[in-house]
Amino acid sequence: MDDHIPDLKFSSLEAISTCISTTRKSFLEHRTRDVEFRLVQLRKLYWVCVLCSFQNERNTIPCKKANCCVIFCSIKDHEEAIVRACALDLNKPRFETEIAESGWLLNDIVFTTRNLHKWVKDEKADDIDLPFKVMRPKIRKDPLGCVLVIGTFNFPFQLTLGPVIGAIAAGNTVVIKPSENAPNSAVVIQKICEAALDPLCYSVVQGGVSETQALLAERWDKIFFTGGANVGRIIAKAAAPYLTPVVLELGGINPAIISKTADPRLVARRMLWGKTVNAGQLCTSQNYLLIDKCLVPRVIEEFKKAYAEFYPQGAKNSPDYSRIINKNHFQRLKSMLDKSKGEVLIGGTVNEDDLFIEPTVIQVDSVEDSLCTQESFGPFIPIIPVEDLDEAINIANSVQSTPLGLYPFGSKADVAKIISSTRSGGVSCNDAALHIPTLPFGGVGESGYGAYRGRSSFDVFVHRRPITSSPNWLESILAFRYPPYAGKLNRL
Ligand code: NAD
Repeated sequence: MDDHIPDLKFSSLEAISTCISTTRKSFLEHRTRDVEFRLVQLRKLYWVCVLCSFQNERNTIPCKKANCCVIFCSIKDHEEAIVRACALDLNKPRFETEIAESGWLLNDIVFTTRNLHKWVKDEKADDIDLPFKVMRPKIRKDPLGCVLVIGTFNFPFQLTLGPVIGAIAAGNTVVIKPSENAPNSAVVIQKICEAALDPLCYSVVQGGVSETQALLAERWDKIFFTGGANVGRIIAKAAAPYLTPVVLELGGINPAIISKTADPRLVARRMLWGKTVNAGQLCTSQNYLLIDKCLVPRVIEEFKKAYAEFYPQGAKNSPDYSRIINKNHFQRLKSMLDKSKGEVLIGGTVNEDDLFIEPTVIQVDSVEDSLCTQESFGPFIPIIPVEDLDEAINIANSVQSTPLGLYPFGSKADVAKIISSTRSGGVSCNDAALHIPTLPFGGVGESGYGAYRGRSSFDVFVHRRPITSSPNWLESILAFRYPPYAGKLNRL
């Protein structure tokens, strides 16, 4: 791969069918059972990601243990491919790519490989009644089988390969379907997987709706999906005939609740950051702000200061601001903004040629405004003034869809009250969008089900298989369970 990333080519139906049967066969032949095999795959993935992430001089010594020398011969081929792909797909700044895509994955792999021996160990079952202890019960962490991972476009590397790391660690074979909406990233993901991973056990299928539907028509041992709720429903329906377990990592209409005890400067800086990272194309970013009305003027003032500080030449001229992924999403966002009855306080400009939407702070009347009734997945910051905390909590709870993230700002007592009166996938107090990478991450209700990241990425891809062994000497006691039963209950 030189500087040019080839065009994305969708997989043929024949290729899809072959890769599924190959990966399934490999699982049945137990190729991925051995923990050392899994570690080698992860270490190779690590080094290929390193190659694809940074400039040549920042690369470090190859890991001999993982037989990576072959990969290092092709160092030039991979250099910075992840950064280039993200820039082409989303105009993503290098800083954001290195932190939230390549750097994220590398940390994830290091964390996983460091802990894998501990995680795979049989677990002693301690919480059992005394008589069963002689059966030496334990819980084995068995791989599920052949799993499908369907990725999304906004953090194409992190959100596609992140679950794959867990699936590999847990001993599954994996078919990976990157998002066609980030075509350059999809091509690089395939190159990375082909360079790093055993092709008999892990493969990439490229495609859009029809290719995904061809994949969904097959039997899987788990489907891990990241994307929108509408497609999530399609995935769950397709999985149902086979009783395939599904993880749905969906979006949400995430509220930020700002009490009068909050610090207006922190609110503005952190909320602006949550909606300017990746131009607001972030599932955990806040969708609307419910602000105690006495704080609204100061928060708006601080938003203006923060915007001028983040983008002294305006977001359009800044190298640090992404673009919207494609024309469809641009039009969707533009139409939300056009329909809004709110008053634009900051930003509001758009440019279709450039797929640019300016970070826009806008005061709206209610959560019925077009900017709040659906997840924007774009750089809009609608502000709704409220009388007090109780009103804010009532409004947040009146939105039917359970959010993926909740962002309470204020004193300890106010934040505690907000948390205990609401539901959400996760909570980040006095901050935006933040989620500690190794904590379980997932939605609740409309924002999905299942969780991954850190240890949870391993757990979500294993079956906890209880194993007991009845010693021969126990037969004299076990004989009690055999018929004829007459009179046995009286003896208990
Ligand atoms: P999407 O649902 O449109 O697409 C996701 C994947 O589904 C793609 O790989 C696509 O090929 C496939 N797909 C699309 N239509 C399909 C169909 N009819 N049948 C089968 N497969 C189909 O989502 P998106 O536009 O890529 O991402 C935006 C959504 O994803 C937002 O709602 C966002 O909040 C959510 N998201 C969630 C997380 C999370 O971790 N919870 C992370 C990022 C994005």
